[in-house]
Order: sequence, then structure tokens, then C-alpha cells
Amino acid sequence: MAPRTPLTATEIKELKAQLLAERADLQGQYQELEESSFGSNQSELTGEMAFDEEYADAGSATFERERDLSLVNNLRDLIDRIDKALAKVEDGTYGLCDRCGKPIEKLRLKALPYANLCIKDKQAEERVR
Ligand SMILES: [Zn+2]
Repeated sequence: MAPRTPLTATEIKELKAQLLAERADLQGQYQELEESSFGSNQSELTGEMAFDEEYADAGSATFERERDLSLVNNLRDLIDRIDKALAKVEDGTYGLCDRCGKPIEKLRLKALPYANLCIKDKQAEERVR
């Protein structure tokens, strides 16, 4: 028999609410970043800007853009993980380790609701990296 989630219906409901709240928050940050960095970059390409000022700032602008890009990637990654967790809530496998199929420690889920691996497998994964 396939192992079932170790969580009670109430716990799942709470964690799901947490996931949705976090997702909404991340989505907001994501949109803000996209609008501020990518949106303005596009208008810089088409609009006429004060060139000297832009030139002086080029170094830090590049740095900021790279920082924004990695932030955007991080956000996208997190949103993706939250979506996967939410999908698991829907099909009743939420709280189970993606690798070994055993229940993920409750404390771990409460600290990190989108955790998809149990502590043991997570540590194993980090050792491989
Ligand atoms: Zn595991």
C-alpha cells in the first residue's frame, strides 16, 4: 500500500494556506522585479535617454541587472516548487518525500512548506552537489 501523508487534514489546510500566501507574495515580488528591471530596460532601448548619466552608471546597472536576474530566477524556482507542493496537496501526496516516498518530517514542512524531500534525502542531495 502506498504510504499516505503523515499530516492531518487541518495541518494540510494550514500549510496549503501558507503556500498560497507565500506564492502570492513571491508572485508580487517577481512582477515588481520584472517591471522595474526588464520593463525599464526596454524603454531605455527605444527611448532617448540622458546618455552621459547612463554611461556613468553602466557598471552598477549591469551589476543590478545581474542581481535582479538571479533574484528572478530564484523567485521563479521557488514559485515552481510551491506549485509542485500545491499539486501534491491536490493529489493527496503532500508531505511525502519525492525520493524515498516516506513522510517528510512535520517540523521540516512547517518551517519549509514546499519541502519535497525528507531531511535524509535533502542532505544526501546536498552532498552530491
Ligand atoms: Zn526521503
